[in-house]
Amino acid sequence: MKEVTLKILKKIEESGYQAYIVGGFVRNFLLGIESNDIDITTDATPKDLYTIFPDAILPTTEYGSVTIIVNQIRFEITTFRKEFNYQKNRRPGEVIYIKTLKEDLLRRDFTVNTLCMDKNGKIIDLLNAKEDLKTKKIKTVQESKKSFEEDALRILRAIRFATTLNFDLDKEVEDAIRQTKYLLNYLSKERIKEELTKIFASTNAKGGIHLLLYFELDKVLHLKKLKDIHFFSQSIGIWAFLEVDNLYPFSKNEKELMMKIRKVKDENFSDYAIYQCGLYASSVAGEMCGLSKKEIIEKYEALPIKRLQELSVNGRDLLKIFNKPPGPYLKQWIKLLEKQVILRNIENQKEALISYCLNNKSMIV
Ligand code: ATP
Ligand code: MG
Repeated sequence: MKEVTLKILKKIEESGYQAYIVGGFVRNFLLGIESNDIDITTDATPKDLYTIFPDAILPTTEYGSVTIIVNQIRFEITTFRKEFNYQKNRRPGEVIYIKTLKEDLLRRDFTVNTLCMDKNGKIIDLLNAKEDLKTKKIKTVQESKKSFEEDALRILRAIRFATTLNFDLDKEVEDAIRQTKYLLNYLSKERIKEELTKIFASTNAKGGIHLLLYFELDKVLHLKKLKDIHFFSQSIGIWAFLEVDNLYPFSKNEKELMMKIRKVKDENFSDYAIYQCGLYASSVAGEMCGLSKKEIIEKYEALPIKRLQELSVNGRDLLKIFNKPPGPYLKQWIKLLEKQVILRNIENQKEALISYCLNNKSMIV
């Protein structure tokens, strides 16, 4: 990963520009953590970059980043910039391209995110960030309060990095969070959800939740049940528990999954609930209740059938038994038989199912 990236830096530099890896990758590299994507900072403009990399994906917005994908690794290349007049506590109203790396670093959020690596793999540390990496401190580049007022998302990013890296927040950052947390009200729910998901997905989620509660962000973010979380689970389990399906933007799939997770839990891991909600939702519900994955898999594997197609009778069989034209009664019978099989009241055997139908003919007409 590093080698491919250094090649990209060389290629940009051969065209007469400066280029460095910046941010997460360098920070994680020094901490011995893998990164998924790589951020590059350069004085080449998107137009210049497009000449160097004709396959580059150009930004959709003015002053956006250029993306290139090499060996399935995603590179986000951003031109050195200065940002002014932040609007709505989130976006700069004005951006200008500049020529010096240091000035670009000064607009960034935290010192540990300003570390760079040059084309030879040498670490460039213009803002004394290594020290903060060593003492495990999340410090803002500029004055914390000003930084959060410019872009309130940084409040959540501070907590996210403190959580995922297991770092402490600098005292100034803590004070600034207390003073500016109300600004979180103005952020889009989409961005808040993204950051919270990263916090919840961390192996240190407990620490992250503790921080959110410590600053009483549960109140600002409308997470009433956050204080009641005393379990470990994947982030979707935490979201399911929080019951904020309509407050934050979840996809249809996520909503369905959260409903299933809650159902399995509320129905106490009954066979029928596990059958209806499936193995994945059941195992997340299991995590929430301290049940091991093994226990859930065993319960699931022991189900008499896993899906409706495995039921030993179908609509056609029923038509023959009842000798009536098709109608809604067929579906109702199938549902009933399915449930009886799962509850182990009837064996999933054609004769057994048929005789059950014949003995209970009057139940559904
Ligand atoms: P990761 O990719 O591991 O989540 P990262 O530090 O690379 O962490 P990105 O969101 O990829 O974070 O951003 C890349 C870099 O851009 C950051 O390291 C930081 O220097 C800068 N940056 C990102 N978001 C902001 C922001 N809201 N305010 C200031 N600088 C930011
Ligand atoms: Mg990154």
